[in-house]
Amino acid sequence: MSEEQKRTELSSLGEFGLIDRITKDFPLTHESSELGVGDDAAILNYGDKRVVVSTDMLTEGVHFDLRYVPLKHLGYKSVAVNVSDIAAMNAVPKQITVSIGLSSRFSLEACEELYAGIRAACEEYGVDLVGGDTTTSRSGLVISVTVIGEAEENALAKRDGAKEKDIICATGDLGGAYIGLQILEREKEVFLSNPEMQPDLSNYNYVVGRQLKPKARMDIIHELADLGVVPTSMIDISDGLASELLHIASQSNVGISIFEDKLPIDKQTYNTAVEFKIDPITCALNGGEDYELLFTIKQSEYEKLKMHPDIHFIGYTQSKEDGCNLITKQNNVYPLSAQGWNHFNKK
Ligand code: ADP
Ligand code: MG
Repeated sequence: MSEEQKRTELSSLGEFGLIDRITKDFPLTHESSELGVGDDAAILNYGDKRVVVSTDMLTEGVHFDLRYVPLKHLGYKSVAVNVSDIAAMNAVPKQITVSIGLSSRFSLEACEELYAGIRAACEEYGVDLVGGDTTTSRSGLVISVTVIGEAEENALAKRDGAKEKDIICATGDLGGAYIGLQILEREKEVFLSNPEMQPDLSNYNYVVGRQLKPKARMDIIHELADLGVVPTSMIDISDGLASELLHIASQSNVGISIFEDKLPIDKQTYNTAVEFKIDPITCALNGGEDYELLFTIKQSEYEKLKMHPDIHFIGYTQSKEDGCNLITKQNNVYPLSAQGWNHFNKK
């Protein structure tokens, strides 16, 4: 052997660095390929309507632990997280395909449980299951869902449309799914060390539910349409608020200020975070998997949304030179950094 082959660890790139690297030499060659890699979904242009497409894969041991995730919930969640990416484009989901890799550990009954959850999500979000693939996996359960949605051209909200002095909005509340995961992990350890102990999750129903059965915020998308509001940019909060804010900022070429005291945090999330000695603000900024929507609106649209009980105005966009900052209750300014889920980085 003469030369040693160069080897670059994926952890040195991070998830987004890797995606950039492997997708950079694929130019879009069709007129219908309007938007490729880099947003919550791709946009295909077939005339009057735009078709949006997104895929997400969930793997056992990384995205879910079957020791505490019921298969039915898993089926529901695997569709919901994909629908969330369509919501993040301000589009409406229509069809899904579902591909599964199964090991011999799974019975027909287990598969039917999984698909009962998938069916519940199809009913809730109004999507048709139109195909998929079934194969063997030697490393546990793998589920990959592709979702196809549609929107009018002028209704689409991408990550790159925010302008300076827009208002930044977040739906629902943040950090709950992360705290719910901490509870499930803690109870798993208790159970593993003493199988007689049955977990009592009654004080943690809300946060555990946020982890096990997240909802895609299609309700917000329909309400925005009813109010005649098209966000200037939008992304769903899957990796954590800070990470998503930085995506909007970099792709829109703007800076951002958000206010600590405006971050929506549920009481149970707050109290449970304190119990775990984790800063609730850190949970809201960096906890993943809330699947809420983060979007920007023109100031002139504020009147239409200001009374909405589930939309929170957390900050504003500014010039890129002013940076991306969190302003604390004491009026201190801290630069935002993304510590969200980055699969190839050690946390
Ligand atoms: P999201 O968190 O919204 O699901 P991701 O962070 O997974 O988005 O992906 C970011 C962008 O990169 C998306 O446009 C996605 O389609 C694209 N992408 C991710 N992985 C790959 C891959 N292996 N090959 C091509 N495109 C990819
Ligand atoms: Mg997304």
